[in-house]
Amino acid sequence: MRYSYRRGLLWLAIYFLFSLIPLAVVSSGHIPEYRAFWIEFAVALGYIGLAMLALQFLFTGRLQKIAPSYGMDNLLHFHKEMGIVAFLFVLAHPIILIAVNPGFLAYFDPSINLLRAVFLSFASVALIFIMASSLWRATFNLSYETWRLIHGLLALAIVFIGLSHALQVGHYLNTFGKQAVVSVLIGGCMYAVIHTRLVRPWLNRKKPYRVVGVKEERGDAWSIEVEAVGHKKMQYQCGQFAWLTIHDSPFSIQQHPFSMTSSTESDTLSFTAKVMGDFTSTWKDIKIGDRLFLEGPFGSFTPIAGKNLFLIMGGIGITPGISMLRTMRDKKDKRKVTLIYGNENLEEATFYEELEELNKELNLQLLHLLTDPPKGWEGETGKIDREFLEKYLPEDSENYIYLICGPDPLMDIAEIALKDLGMDWRYIYTERFKIV
Ligand SMILES: Cc1cc2nc3c(=O)[nH]c(=O)nc-3n(C[C@H](O)[C@H](O)[C@H](O)COP(=O)(O)OP(=O)(O)OC[C@H]3O[C@@H](n4cnc5c(N)ncnc54)[C@H](O)[C@@H]3O)c2cc1C
Repeated sequence: MRYSYRRGLLWLAIYFLFSLIPLAVVSSGHIPEYRAFWIEFAVALGYIGLAMLALQFLFTGRLQKIAPSYGMDNLLHFHKEMGIVAFLFVLAHPIILIAVNPGFLAYFDPSINLLRAVFLSFASVALIFIMASSLWRATFNLSYETWRLIHGLLALAIVFIGLSHALQVGHYLNTFGKQAVVSVLIGGCMYAVIHTRLVRPWLNRKKPYRVVGVKEERGDAWSIEVEAVGHKKMQYQCGQFAWLTIHDSPFSIQQHPFSMTSSTESDTLSFTAKVMGDFTSTWKDIKIGDRLFLEGPFGSFTPIAGKNLFLIMGGIGITPGISMLRTMRDKKDKRKVTLIYGNENLEEATFYEELEELNKELNLQLLHLLTDPPKGWEGETGKIDREFLEKYLPEDSENYIYLICGPDPLMDIAEIALKDLGMDWRYIYTERFKIV
């Protein structure tokens, strides 16, 4: 799907509208007497911050309706940046109130109201922890899964406490109608995360897949081929990804995103994982017959009908690309494709042999770019940069879509270079494998 200003702006408008709705609701109808400016200002920040925190649950990349408008990368960046803004708004709320009138410290005084003091103190500490652990996960020595679990639970707790606090203070939420509207809005957002983590996996439990093939690949990677058991396999577009849970149940916290590597025309699906950490290092032990669960498809990193493909990929970033090429082969699609595939050496070039085969079958220009080439290598060497891209950009560059996937430095350089070289940003797609 092509990015579009219109769809993007629409979602952005909806976002800002939703973040202002609670404030609009409490400012409507009968409103209490005006207090000092800074007090009203702090209260407004609290409402906007709470709404933004709740909206974070919708911008986690799991909503299939929203994700394609922006792409998963952009959505997660947005989630992160808006999270920081919401954090500052919510934190500013008590700080300003207490600075203007130290009497507000009473909200944290256990001798006045124990439960209130405990919950508000917990929410404040949790908010700071959630922010710090997201920005500096490695410093906290948290595995991705542990971080994700804590992040989700704390976020739910903070929003729940925030809503309860607003209802309990009741200064502005002074009618049942206002309380109901704000509760439904905030509660609806909270439900989104409960739906993703509990309801969807529960619905998914009746749609298992079975491993029918396991293969070691170049570049310290393993491929698995899976078939649907007792249901129709997931329909997807090449370049998309799914969340994978191997063995046990669809509720495991070991749920990881992987791009489909199979042709969309195939009866089975396949995935290839480079060994990175605790989850991917178990792929070598996967056996034929093992069960797994898939949730998806997600992502908008997909070719566009009628456009030629210019693929810039590095290392394991080849996975969505191989799905595109396999699909094109099966569909006898004769569109032009340029694949620039960056690796240290050919031993790291996952799917090397198959790419050579595809090179004969497709209208493909295959360019291996090696940073540590073997003796006698006559191909391209070095890293992707502007000059390299300029050399290989097609003359009819406006007839292409540009798809970039690989290590962060490669992606940053390629994306900026393509834009500098005048390519239309709406046709430049990126897929980042490293989230936090
Ligand atoms: C859209 C997308 C598609 C991907 N496709 C592929 C693919 O086809 N092949 C491939 O080898 N890798 C792919 N990845 C990366 C893959 O998900 C991680 O390498 C894998 O989750 C690492 O898990 P680990 O426990 O082995 O390693 P860890 O050392 O725990 O993690 C390494 C890094 O992977 C990311 N990561 C870890 N766990 C998760 C998780 N549950 N959810 C999201 N990110 C996580 C984090 O950025 C982390 O820093 C993809 C990632 C994304 C976002």
